[in-house]
Amino acid sequence: MQKHTDVLIIGGGFSGVATAQKLAKAGISATLVDKKDYFEVTFAVLRNVTAPKAQGNRPRKLYRDFVGGGFIQGAIESMNDQQATLANGDVITFNQAVIASGSRYPSLSLAKTHGQFDYAARNQEMLNEHSKLAKAKSVLVMGGGAVGVELVGEIASAFPNIKLTLAHSGSALLDNMKPKAQQKALEQLEAKGVSVKLNRRFALDSKQEGNQYRCSKSNEVIKADLVYSCVGMVPNTEFLRQQLPSVLDNKGLIKVDAFMKVNGYDNLYAVGDCSALDDHKHGYLATVQGGMLADKIIRAANGKKVKPYKTPPVAVITPTGTDSGVAQMPFGVFTANFLINLKQKDMGISNIFKMLGSEADKLA
Ligand SMILES: Cc1cc2nc3c(=O)[nH]c(=O)nc-3n(C[C@H](O)[C@H](O)[C@H](O)COP(=O)(O)OP(=O)(O)OC[C@H]3O[C@@H](n4cnc5c(N)ncnc54)[C@H](O)[C@@H]3O)c2cc1C
Repeated sequence: MQKHTDVLIIGGGFSGVATAQKLAKAGISATLVDKKDYFEVTFAVLRNVTAPKAQGNRPRKLYRDFVGGGFIQGAIESMNDQQATLANGDVITFNQAVIASGSRYPSLSLAKTHGQFDYAARNQEMLNEHSKLAKAKSVLVMGGGAVGVELVGEIASAFPNIKLTLAHSGSALLDNMKPKAQQKALEQLEAKGVSVKLNRRFALDSKQEGNQYRCSKSNEVIKADLVYSCVGMVPNTEFLRQQLPSVLDNKGLIKVDAFMKVNGYDNLYAVGDCSALDDHKHGYLATVQGGMLADKIIRAANGKKVKPYKTPPVAVITPTGTDSGVAQMPFGVFTANFLINLKQKDMGISNIFKMLGSEADKLA
């Protein structure tokens, strides 16, 4: 099957949906393609696993229930500057394309699913992971970035009897945050009984049966019923390798100019985690970028000038469980509840759906 669209949007994460919503409002014909049939607020998935009843299925919503313009469920396998080919062989030709295919954690399907592309299946994936945790006596979390820190904190709050270890190869948690935020997060996790091992890299001990992990430097061994590897975020850009390899940098990110245009192409754009536009990789920023890009496309269609992208002020709130966390605001680092609660309330679900011109589902 062949289809034509004015603007093809590849990926219905924060950036892709933000672009789709604004283009639809402006009456520009666009088609969103995603492997999944639902949008998901990733901020909320870790707590969704540890405490599924708190928000139920509210982090997710079917695209067809709130996204304007056309939607096709499918995986883009390859593309050039005129057409994209889906895994089922269908071809979509376009005038312009927005690449918003985001990123994934190769060993952590609960963060962003690896295979549960239908709404009901993803809801079940959350519950299945919760059941596994409920049976565990010990858990090892590898990687002390935002995802590892949040996950271990959520497990500590929901399952205080689980023996928890957080292993991180760096000398401080939350590499991209300020030293005060790093120190506070460490203190908060240790106060919850988490054993934090910095400067150590653990790998599966191939000589032993079961989940035994060994640090090659210190020779320490950790046995755990469950292990979560929260390291190695990679951009979803493999589908560009065949026909557009020159647009990727050495990390697999799409090279763009300050107008979000893919290097060397006037009709291709890239935003969000898959793009080299901004070193900060946040869903909030991806949402802002998607909206800005739609504005640029609308203005350009009307012959108006467009402004280059500049990182807006960024606030990062990292919970370390249900009752603590660190907030790195443009004006300092804080642990006060009134700031942490901006996220703790419903993990940003209501706010993101509002930014996307919709509203979160009610708790069933
Ligand atoms: C557990 C967790 C917690 C987080 N918490 C926060 C937070 O509190 N605050 C914050 O700002 N950020 C947070 N982030 C980061 C945030 O989730 C990302 O920055 C954000 O998801 C990036 O959005 P995006 O639109 O670029 O891409 P993504 O959200 O990754 O979406 C990409 C979409 O593209 C689709 N796709 C990919 N490849 C293809 C293909 N070939 N064909 C079709 N579809 C495709 C995917 O299915 C997906 O829907 C968190 C991330 C994780 C994992």
